[in-house]
Amino acid sequence: MSPASNSDLPNSPSAPASPVIHRLDPTLVNQIAAGEVIERPASVVKELLENAIDSGATRIDVAIEEGGVQLIRVADNGCGIGRDDLALAVAPHATSKIRNTEDLFNIRTLGFRGEALASIASISRFRMVSRPAGQDEAFEYVGRSERGAGEAGESSDAPLIRSSAGPVGTTVEVRNLFYNVPARRKFLRQAATEMGHVTEQIARLALAHPAIAFSVSHNGRSARSLPSVSDRRSRIGDFYGPELASCLIPVQRSERDLEIEALFAPPAQSRASSKWQYVFLNGRFITDRRIAYAVREAFRGLMEHDRHAVVFLFLRADPRQFDVNVHPTKLEVRWRDAGLVQSQVLAVLREALLARDLTPAFSLNRATGDGGAAREAGGDDRQRSVRQAVADYLRTIDPTQARIDFAPPPSYALRNVRPSLSPTFATPATPPNDEAIAPPVLPTGPRLPPGDVPPADRDAMISADGLAAPQPAPDSPAGSVIQVHNAYLVAQTDEGIVIIDQHALHERILYEKFRQRLLTGPLESQRLLIPPVVSVSAAQAEAAERQGELLHGLGIELERFGPASLAIQSFPILLSNLDSAAFVRDLLDKLADCGEATAETLVHAALDMMACKAAIKAGDALSQEEMVALLSQRDLTERASNCPHGRPTTLQLTTRDLERQFKRT
Ligand code: ADP
Ligand code: MG
Repeated sequence: MSPASNSDLPNSPSAPASPVIHRLDPTLVNQIAAGEVIERPASVVKELLENAIDSGATRIDVAIEEGGVQLIRVADNGCGIGRDDLALAVAPHATSKIRNTEDLFNIRTLGFRGEALASIASISRFRMVSRPAGQDEAFEYVGRSERGAGEAGESSDAPLIRSSAGPVGTTVEVRNLFYNVPARRKFLRQAATEMGHVTEQIARLALAHPAIAFSVSHNGRSARSLPSVSDRRSRIGDFYGPELASCLIPVQRSERDLEIEALFAPPAQSRASSKWQYVFLNGRFITDRRIAYAVREAFRGLMEHDRHAVVFLFLRADPRQFDVNVHPTKLEVRWRDAGLVQSQVLAVLREALLARDLTPAFSLNRATGDGGAAREAGGDDRQRSVRQAVADYLRTIDPTQARIDFAPPPSYALRNVRPSLSPTFATPATPPNDEAIAPPVLPTGPRLPPGDVPPADRDAMISADGLAAPQPAPDSPAGSVIQVHNAYLVAQTDEGIVIIDQHALHERILYEKFRQRLLTGPLESQRLLIPPVVSVSAAQAEAAERQGELLHGLGIELERFGPASLAIQSFPILLSNLDSAAFVRDLLDKLADCGEATAETLVHAALDMMACKAAIKAGDALSQEEMVALLSQRDLTERASNCPHGRPTTLQLTTRDLERQFKRT
């Protein structure tokens, strides 16, 4: 310790004074407890809804203002709280739900800690009106900060309880959340973002309790009205649209005290985000790594690796089989036998998938929508078999069966391909057949007739694809470029041969084109005559709202269409051969997953998806001209050696490699 600091401590020249220990003021204790569970308005909504559900309510009305920062009001028609218990309900560590340690491991209610109301009341302007069933009078609990001047109890710490009016049940009103915790308030996002979180919390509880009727309003406008229903499917439909609900496949299984009920969508309905997997345990939304793994395993091979199944899993287990007291917000549980749960979930889904032949049909037709998704999955299998075939073929080159190692050429440039393809290819003679390789440009279905696109714009969009620009003549030396298994191009270069993954290369070319195009302003879009309607989740709707500017840049205009749907008003011309609804749905999933990522990350995610969907696929047969067009775009494109996901687009086999393999050297 330096002499200078010693002089600060005149009474203890050699050691610091022992600090004074004191008990924390109860308000501060509650605020600390609130720090654990109340992160944002959605956390309050969750706690209040859980209380309402625990009270046996059959109807719950939720009113939100400004994303919940201004007001959260939850009214239920449950059992109510008697006058004498009102103050206790808001006291810390006071609950009617458990009494002893045994109860702690046999929890049958959503709440049990007795901390929620105390925490919430300590960080907001809080009031609660309740009237128990069978009583004529309602009473009101008024938080300290809510009392008017001169009101009884204003100066005392004792809670104020006064008679009030109201129906049987309880109404809790939380205003100005975090008004006295500025540090917390700083972390709150825009109202739309907070409302997105609130809606997600409501969905999690409402999906698990379809028999309870819910209504939700935001800023005085009705946002959702969910009638009491007897089946889970209808409630899912209320949130995600009847289209998704009607395709769900129900399965059930009950073994060793574990009941599993699942509703899942066929693999062709896969999503870009795993947010469409909901797991509920005894009416509580949970996240569980092992269950998520089981779901992924069950669908493995039925969809591409970056796609996710839509699954709603409802588990019922004896509360003694798991511990909910391991996570402050009770989002995770600890199972006695996690292996059993994992294997049961895997079994129920896998059996159902095997029982129905859900393997998507493969078709060469560049279909859109579900067909497109099915095709992609088929393409994945096909790509695997093609890779295998190429590997097998190359292995036969080597009589000793030695493995050919050809590393992706890091410095390879199309310079290498060009000379052997030119000069014959240099002068365009016949325009290439852009129908097969480039996304067809003319709008189809309920879109504007082609005449409505100005010719100049059409030219722009054709060349933007990068493959329809004037291309080399088709009278190329036969065999310069060949297509193998409709997936790979093999071309001669100065140094040897290259093998190109046609999808990966086209994906990179389109990605760079889109990126360049975006630098000069929004992508060209066209208004859709009959705007397709997409059912969206709360997270997707919120992403649409938050990323309006980015979407506008991409040429996508969305408009709210009912509480859980968006109408696609405009869609980029460059993507006009895609199913706009399926594309928008996946894009919103992706943007929702990115959360508050940087603009750069978001643009990358969006362009990546656009390029992947618009690019030719493994399985697409290409004409000679199309292959040449693809190759000639290669050296005009930055970072052409890898696709936007980082996989190589090109493998090189030099003549030296060949000579070595043929034992010529
Ligand atoms: P917990 O739910 O963990 O018991 P809370 O602080 O959320 O703790 O609530 C304290 C107590 O207040 C509950 O145990 C319950 O008895 C009562 N209570 C809270 N909300 C309601 C409600 N909406 N209807 C009836 N009783 C309620
Ligand atoms: Mg509670």
